[in-house]
Amino acid sequence: MAGVSLQHLYKNYSKNGPFVVKDVNLEIEDGEFMIFVGPSGCGKSTTLRMVAGLERISQGEIYIGEELVNNVPPKKRDIAMVFQNYALYPNMSVFENMAFGLRLRKTEKHLIDSSVKSTSRTLEIEHLLERRPRQLSGGQRQRVALGRAIVRHPKVFLMDEPLSNLDARLRVQMRSEIVDMHRNLGTTMIYVTHDQTEAMTMGSRICVMKDGIIQQVGTPEEVYMKP
Ligand code: ADP
Ligand code: ADP
Repeated sequence: MAGVSLQHLYKNYSKNGPFVVKDVNLEIEDGEFMIFVGPSGCGKSTTLRMVAGLERISQGEIYIGEELVNNVPPKKRDIAMVFQNYALYPNMSVFENMAFGLRLRKTEKHLIDSSVKSTSRTLEIEHLLERRPRQLSGGQRQRVALGRAIVRHPKVFLMDEPLSNLDARLRVQMRSEIVDMHRNLGTTMIYVTHDQTEAMTMGSRICVMKDGIIQQVGTPEEVYMKP
């Protein structure tokens, strides 16, 4: 297991461009469920993408556990990411979609089989393993995307508005599934949302960003119920 440490983190997308992340400092504890909120464009996704290794860090350090990961490629980071647009591979079956990350890491075949089976049982998508993504509903696709992330048992989960494309009923259901999953796996979670209910009910702490800086970090009570 591993916490995530952001130290004096800065990001600009071009050499003389504006900093969209500015001196962000945050200690996310091992096993914590940290929510990021803030207006569109305030730097939440950029921060998440730097943790994932999908975006270069302009200045500062990111540690995952004890390891400085600034120069560690995404594939070598013990993380899994779920996006808003849960892009599944259209030409692969659900099983193959879920197995892909494990194959990439040269996991033995029998371990791939058993991991995909047990994860798909948890998410109740066992009966969908032979289907293609286009044969699934939005909610089923989202489950597969989650399954694809969970199946690797990463130390850290990064989720960027994973539920925003779902209808209200599914959103409520998936909220509690993600919370249960986090509880069962004990992984560290960093979760971006603009949904206040998600922020108030899912996380242990909330990090409020604005214009690239951290405005406030606290429990839901501290952030939302200030006198
Ligand atoms: P949201 O506010 O819903 O998180 P954004 O509109 O900020 O989404 O960004 C959506 C995608 O477009 C992201 O992958 C982001 O990196 C990219 N993006 C946002 N702004 C720019 C930009 N000015 N130039 C290039 N890509 C951008
Ligand atoms: P949020 O996730 O909070 O909506 P983002 O991290 O997506 O914010 O964006 C922060 C800022 O960086 C925005 O001004 C956005 O336009 C800009 N940005 C995001 N991605 C890119 C990109 N690929 N190239 C240039 N600017 C970007």
